[in-house]
Amino acid sequence: MITRKLYWADAYRRHFTAGVLHIATGDHPHIILNRSLFYPTGGGQPHDTGTLDEARVLDVIALDDAILHIVDHLPARSDDLHGRIDWQRRWDHMQQHSGQHLLSAVCETHLQRPTIGFHLSEQSLTIDLPGPAPTEAELAEIMAHTQAIIHEDRPIRSHIFSPQQALALDLRKTPDVHGPVRIVEIEGTDRCACGGTHVRSTAAIGSIVITKVERRGDQTRLHFVCGNRAVDDHLRLLAVTQRLGDQLTTGLDALPAAVASLQSDLQQAQRSLRNAQNQLAQNTAVALWSNAPRLQDIRLIRHALDDADPKSLGRLAGQLTAQGNCIALLAWQGPRPRWMIARSVDVAFDLTRLTPLIRAQQAVKGGGSAHTLQGGASSSQTLQELFDILTQYLTEHLSA
Ligand SMILES: [Zn+2]
Repeated sequence: MITRKLYWADAYRRHFTAGVLHIATGDHPHIILNRSLFYPTGGGQPHDTGTLDEARVLDVIALDDAILHIVDHLPARSDDLHGRIDWQRRWDHMQQHSGQHLLSAVCETHLQRPTIGFHLSEQSLTIDLPGPAPTEAELAEIMAHTQAIIHEDRPIRSHIFSPQQALALDLRKTPDVHGPVRIVEIEGTDRCACGGTHVRSTAAIGSIVITKVERRGDQTRLHFVCGNRAVDDHLRLLAVTQRLGDQLTTGLDALPAAVASLQSDLQQAQRSLRNAQNQLAQNTAVALWSNAPRLQDIRLIRHALDDADPKSLGRLAGQLTAQGNCIALLAWQGPRPRWMIARSVDVAFDLTRLTPLIRAQQAVKGGGSAHTLQGGASSSQTLQELFDILTQYLTEHLSA
């Protein structure tokens, strides 16, 4: 079965009638027509969607010389069908795909780098080039040159050649088919074997904007947008930058400076906060240390913190042990309680002696070294119960 490719004759046609060659029922009903405007997935370009009579065309697949139209259900008629393609989707594919031809051609002439990969989907458009990322100057030059060719409104045409004729042409991309070859030409710029659909002239590409340069091993992936996608992308960026500008009460050009100023203010505020927290921890430590009961020369300090920051536990432990001659049992009573036990360096008691008592408590987890132990607990109450046991143990063993 052979389906004549109407999209090759006129890529701007949106509807057609065609005779049915084959209809398949079952879970994935599909139809083969004697001619079709529906482009099947291939050559990096996604398939068209649309309708055949009242049926939705969900997927289009090339199988040898036939084109399979996968439909949501079979149409009522089985003679001539009326087909209509979703033009917005097709136009988008034509703009992006034609833009890809132009960008690939300019990358080849200006960077001497062939396109070794091409990907087009609803969300993204990329080409892969060998070698490291182009410099900013090279990218700017490529975009300026593609834009100049777009403005020159150069015709984009296709011709069918025999394989021998095709070999004699100076092609950017050589064909991998054995029969007649379809060559797509951007006048004076590019010739390339391609079975896709394209706009009539470079002006219809509208614009090409490289949006991202991605390193992939020893290759570079260029992400870009053409035509309507470039406009949509611009509007999206505009919405984001306007919102940021409103929040920071500044214009677009002043945004980087405004963000830098915010970052500087934030760092200053964080420094001030840290200083205040350390000062608070030091004052608390001095008070706790002075009022703690003594076991021989060692002060046994027990304290529960209920501020918002679990880091306050480490800060207070540091300030307490700096006072010398003490062991501190500290609890942080947040939503997930934490604890820390620390001793000053001048106390000879090895804190790991407490670990068997801690492990005996099912609801408490943690461990550590001879001078610091820490962990979490399922509730503040289980933590206080543990601290009661440890206080008793320490009282007995330090008093001896
Ligand atoms: Zn193409």
